[in-house]
Amino acid sequence: MKNYISKIFSLALLGIVFLSSCQEKKLKALIVTGQNNHNWEVSHDLLSKILVNSETFTCEIATSPAKGEDMSGFNPTFDDFDVVVLDYNGDDWSAQTQKDFESFVKNGGGVVVYHASSNSFPNWEAFNQMAGLGGWNGRNEKSGPYVYWKNDEAFRDDSPGKGGTHGPQHEFMVIHRQPEHPILKGMPEKWMHSKDELYSKLRGPAENMTVLATAYADPKKKGTGRHEPMLMTIKYGKGRIFHTAMGHVGKERPIAAQSAGFILTLQRGAEWAATGLVTQELPEDLPNKAVPLILHNYKSYSLDELFQRAKKFEYGKSHKYVNLISNRIRMASGDAEKLSLYETKIIETLASDASVDAKNYLCRDLSWIGSANALPVLEELKANEATKEMASFAIERINQSK
Ligand code: ZN
Repeated sequence: MKNYISKIFSLALLGIVFLSSCQEKKLKALIVTGQNNHNWEVSHDLLSKILVNSETFTCEIATSPAKGEDMSGFNPTFDDFDVVVLDYNGDDWSAQTQKDFESFVKNGGGVVVYHASSNSFPNWEAFNQMAGLGGWNGRNEKSGPYVYWKNDEAFRDDSPGKGGTHGPQHEFMVIHRQPEHPILKGMPEKWMHSKDELYSKLRGPAENMTVLATAYADPKKKGTGRHEPMLMTIKYGKGRIFHTAMGHVGKERPIAAQSAGFILTLQRGAEWAATGLVTQELPEDLPNKAVPLILHNYKSYSLDELFQRAKKFEYGKSHKYVNLISNRIRMASGDAEKLSLYETKIIETLASDASVDAKNYLCRDLSWIGSANALPVLEELKANEATKEMASFAIERINQSK
């Protein structure tokens, strides 16, 4: 009997261990940073937040010696990770470190090349093959062709000239060219990116490279007049590389990296680089082609946060938060449980100290999804001159749909 009980007990324990290891099995990412002509002290941290927020990765940081210092001891154990994210534009790595990195990728390791990382290592042949395209640091026609989107394909232009340029930072639209690729599938095919450098005239070997998305570099913004590659995938040996040219981080607020489209493609691109698949579900708030969607904390707003911010809404100012609420309600169409949750949140807000404009705006959403539960608060708002009209409208709609 004692034996029997201990057997059951150990089986149960095994079950718990198995279950928790399933739940905790995350992909391992290593961010390499420490030298950059950008603000790497800020960027490596936000890249880590973005990856961890996807709930797909754990993240470690490898910080190189400072510029000009001895690099011989800098040799992260790449093989311990599923994906290496390069936030690095600086001194050459030692021959041994380069060799180790090459064999990591050749054997199937994943890499993310982020923004100015493609500027680094102009003379390291394998790195340039992995990045596909790069710029600055003496890159020219010897580095490979310019690549841009022309006549519905990634066009290779061998004309001579320097690699890498950008005009002043501005908001621009990103256009997906491979919308069925796992990284992009399900996302809007066009979305506005927040203020960023629009990397242009990148050039490199561009072998085994697929251009996933481009942005038009408008001559009015000192651009090339070309559709420049923004997102790319590259195969190197058995390894996969995801390259994003976006996400500039300087001394000012890192708004380019707070763009929902940048965040989402980075999270999905890193997973694809690590495994060849994307299992992450799309978030409720997707980027859109009207205005850049900014996520201050590098993740979608919780419902509470969204309503807290929407409470301060004023007509004539940003519609962002109320729009996000309306969008979520639209997306939840047919999902009774979710709609009932939104109804409860709106009722709470209508009964709170929210602005008159917020209350009037939310009455319209409530008119679509409201039930008898919404009527008491609407009757109260109807008694108030400032909210009378919208409350009456909502009451009428709700009574009609009964
Ligand atoms: Zn930059």
